Amino acid sequence: MSDPRLADGPTRRLLEGPIAATLLRLAAPGVIMLVAQVAINVLEAYFVGRLGPDVLSDDVDLEEVRRRARTRPPELALGELLLDQRVVAGIGNIWRSEALFLAGRNPWTERQKLTDDDLGALVATASSLMKASALGRGNGSDHWVYKRSGQPCRKCGTRIESRRQGSSSSEPKRSGGETRGEQARTAYWCPACQPV
Ligand SMILES: [Zn+2]
Repeated sequence: MSDPRLADGPTRRLLEGPIAATLLRLAAPGVIMLVAQVAINVLEAYFVGRLGPDVLSDDVDLEEVRRRARTRPPELALGELLLDQRVVAGIGNIWRSEALFLAGRNPWTERQKLTDDDLGALVATASSLMKASALGRGNGSDHWVYKRSGQPCRKCGTRIESRRQGSSSSEPKRSGGETRGEQARTAYWCPACQPV
């Protein structure tokens, strides 16, 4: 308060008034921390509430996954459904590709073609694969279909196919290098083992 302009006048009166007193009290470090914590909790509840069940939890809530899946468009492709964090949280591109292969489901099949049980089994497969991976089982280079475009299927020998799947899924995959984003969204599948 060494500023001579504050010695008297409206600014000084404002700083000493009840509003200023409230503001100053709020500005106490403890209160700031409390307000920040409340804000964090609110934001967490808002965003976590929007996430589907955690695929890595001990007992994945498949009923909740199925309930959330039913809120998505009926024609949504399974490959996209598995990456939708609002339906089930934590499945990345590797495990959606591998789970779809092991479940014999094509990434482009519409979600409405699956029964609730089929969907539950698919998510349970992804969960098992990811938990096994987290425990260090499998060396990471022996995927069934992931990043094996053009190579023979390990089950039937058919060439593995790949195509970008996501917001611009109608675009054919460009030849040449993929960007990171495209790679993250590229679906891999065996057309024989995973018919649409
Ligand atoms: Zn195959």
